[in-house]
Amino acid sequence: MQAVVFHRPKKVTVDRVDDPRIEAPTDAILRVTSTAICGSDLHIYNGFFPQIRNLVLGHEFMGIVEEIGTSVQRLKKGDRVVVPFPVACGQCFFCERSLPIHCENSNKKNYGPEGGLLSQKGGGLFGYTDLYGGYAGGQAEYVRVPYADYGPRRVSDSLTDDQVLFLSDILPTGWSAIDWAEVRGGETVAVFGCGPVGLMAQKCAWLRGARQVIGIDRVPYRLECARETANAEVIDASRTDPVQGIRDLTHGRGADVCVDAVGMEAHRGMVKKISNVVHAEVGSIEVLRQCISAVRRGGRVSIVGVYGMNYDNFPLGQMFDKGIRVGFGQALVHRYIDELIKIIESGHVRTDDIITHRVALSEAPRAYDIFCRKEDHCVKVILKP
Ligand code: NAD
Ligand code: ZN
Ligand code: ZN
Repeated sequence: MQAVVFHRPKKVTVDRVDDPRIEAPTDAILRVTSTAICGSDLHIYNGFFPQIRNLVLGHEFMGIVEEIGTSVQRLKKGDRVVVPFPVACGQCFFCERSLPIHCENSNKKNYGPEGGLLSQKGGGLFGYTDLYGGYAGGQAEYVRVPYADYGPRRVSDSLTDDQVLFLSDILPTGWSAIDWAEVRGGETVAVFGCGPVGLMAQKCAWLRGARQVIGIDRVPYRLECARETANAEVIDASRTDPVQGIRDLTHGRGADVCVDAVGMEAHRGMVKKISNVVHAEVGSIEVLRQCISAVRRGGRVSIVGVYGMNYDNFPLGQMFDKGIRVGFGQALVHRYIDELIKIIESGHVRTDDIITHRVALSEAPRAYDIFCRKEDHCVKVILKP
C-alpha cells in the first residue's frame, strides 16, 4: 500500500510499504477514507521528537473496517468509524479511570530518567514515534487499529468525513482545554494559537457559554480564519503585545481563562539548532509565559499545545502569587468523543470550515511543507488515500 513515511526531519515521502495485518485478536484493519495532518505531526517533522527508524505517520484518521480479529465484538466489516488518536486497551488501571492517554498496555517501552523526555511509561499513540509505542499511523491506505472494541466510534452515514474526522483529535483537544478550565457562562476565554487546535478551542468556548473569545496568532490569514470560522476577536501578536491586548479588552483584569494552543511550535530560526535528537532547553515557553501573565488573578490556564522537554525560567512565582489553576496534557479523546458526536449531529458546531486543502495522499510531502511554513493560506489539510 501507499503510506506517508517519516525518514528524517523535513523528509517525508509517500512510499510503498507492506499492508498492515491483524497481529492480535483485538485488532481491526481499517481502509482509510480521510486522514489529516496535525500540528503535532510537525513536532516530528521538525525534529522535536526523535525518530530514528522510518515510520508511517498520522494519528487523525477514519475509514471503513476491512477486517477484524477473532475477539472483536463491537465492530464488523464494512462499519464506518472514526478513531481516537491515543491507542488504549480500555481495561487497565488508567483506562478504567477514563485516562486512556496513559494506558498501561499500549506502550511497552519505558523511557529515560525522571524528568527527561517522557519521564515515565505512558500510553501509545498512532504514528507518533517509538517513544509512543511505534505504531504505524493512518496517513496510509490501510491502518491496523489495536483494541478495536475500545477506540473506534461508528459514525452516521448522514455525516460526511469532513464533518466527523476531527473527532479523532482536534475537536476533543479543543474541548479538553475548555473543560479543564471549567469555563462558565459569561467568561472571557483567550486562546493563543489560531491553528486547527486553537480554532477548535475557540469554538468550544462558545459552546460552553463564553461571553468573549479572543484569538491570538502571528499569522494574518490565521487570525482572519479565527474571525470568520470561530467568531473571535483577534490580536496579532507580531504587532501588539498580546498580554497588554488581552488586558485592554478585559478592563485591565485579564482573561478568566487562557489557553495555550501553540506549544513548542518552532520559532523561526530555531529549527536549525535541532538534529535528529531532541536537545533540552531548545524550546520556548514565550506563549505559556504570556498565558500566565494575561490570565486574571484566580484564573485558569489550559495547556494543550505540546511540550516535550524541560524548560528553565518557568514563571512559578507568578503562578503562585496569582493563584492560577493549570491543566495540561494530551486530550482524553475517549472520554469526550461520544458527547461531541452528539454536538456535531445537533448542528451546534461546525468543524469542517477550517479545512483549506483536500489532496491525494501522494501530495503529502508538499502538504507537510506548506502546512509547516504556513503558506498558501493553509490551515488544515485532509489527505485522501
Ligand atoms: P499549528 O502549528 O497549525 O498551530 C499553531 C499556531 O500557533 C499557528 O497558527 C502559529 O502561527 C501560532 N503561533 C506560533 N507562535 C505563536 C506565538 N508566539 N503567539 C501566538 N501564536 C503563535 O498546530 P495545531 O494543529 O493547531 O496544534 C497546536 C498545538 O496543539 C501543537 O503544539 C500540537 O502539537 C498541539 N496538540 C495537542 C494535542 C493534545 O492532545 N494536547 C492534540 C493535538 C495537537
Ligand atoms: Zn493531531
Ligand atoms: Zn489501558
